[in-house]
Amino acid sequence: MKVGFVSIFGKPNAGKSTLLNALMGEKLAIVSPKVQTTRHRIKGILTEAGYQVIFSDTPGIIEPKYKLHERMMQAVKSSLEDADLALLLVDVQDNWEENDQIFNSLHLGSPAIVVLNKTDRAANSKVEEAMAFFASKPYCKKTVAISALKKSNTRALLDAVLEFLPGGEPFFEGEDLTDLPTKFFVGEMIREKIFLLYGDEIPYQATVLVQEFKEKTTLTKIRADIIVQRETQKGIILGEGGKMIRKLGTEARKDIEAFIGRQVFLELFVKVRPKWRDNDTFLKEYGYQ
Ligand code: GDP
Ligand code: MG
Repeated sequence: MKVGFVSIFGKPNAGKSTLLNALMGEKLAIVSPKVQTTRHRIKGILTEAGYQVIFSDTPGIIEPKYKLHERMMQAVKSSLEDADLALLLVDVQDNWEENDQIFNSLHLGSPAIVVLNKTDRAANSKVEEAMAFFASKPYCKKTVAISALKKSNTRALLDAVLEFLPGGEPFFEGEDLTDLPTKFFVGEMIREKIFLLYGDEIPYQATVLVQEFKEKTTLTKIRADIIVQRETQKGIILGEGGKMIRKLGTEARKDIEAFIGRQVFLELFVKVRPKWRDNDTFLKEYGYQ
């Protein structure tokens, strides 16, 4: 199965929303209203036999009116950097040079497809010229010309996307689709704090599993396990008298509160699971399979 995260970049009006609608079809509804805020980046999860593509966008980078909280940006930064592919969307009638400058300034870590949109409004010769212009840019691995509005060539774009995605197991499954993005990001935020607070190999030896995510009337209750491989690592995560895990909890809670826009009660537990990375049952339990 092809599975991966795809970020969509583009100036306002380039056609990002129209493209997402074209790609997602009826499936856009699977993203819950709560995660549709400008802070949240997951826009749609397209699951079919053979692939799962998780689309997100980056309002903070290109659309100043949606300027993200700095903290928020930090919290989602890891997933941005983890994107397997970027779609750089350009209105073919727009100024190519200016778009090129923006794309350059993103310093993308992932490969990118430049998508020329609104080809229904442009002469073929102009579209071809635009494709040649962008094809020569260092960040551009491929160019695809589409009309998001007319859904023309969008299937070819999806095929091109799939070429760049790694194989793997789906991140999101079945009935839980609506909740999972939030849960997933909550786990990522806790993981990010582990990276910030602990040195050496600890972050690489630990994983986070969000066990409970319950919306109460005044707050959201979240219980998460931090899984490590050895007792010594547990000791480091906890810190003297539990000092470090309290710090971890406080910092993660603040980010999660900013993220979901509600007060959060966060409970963290550290569990030792020797060799969890090698153990099929554990991997399954922790959502890796
Ligand atoms: P966003 O700001 O990047 O999300 O752009 P939108 O998806 O909201 O689109 C901006 C405008 O461009 C809307 O009026 C769309 O209908 C229009 N648009 C998007 N894609 C196309 C296209 O392929 N052809 C034409 N003619 N118009 C398009
Ligand atoms: Mg839009």
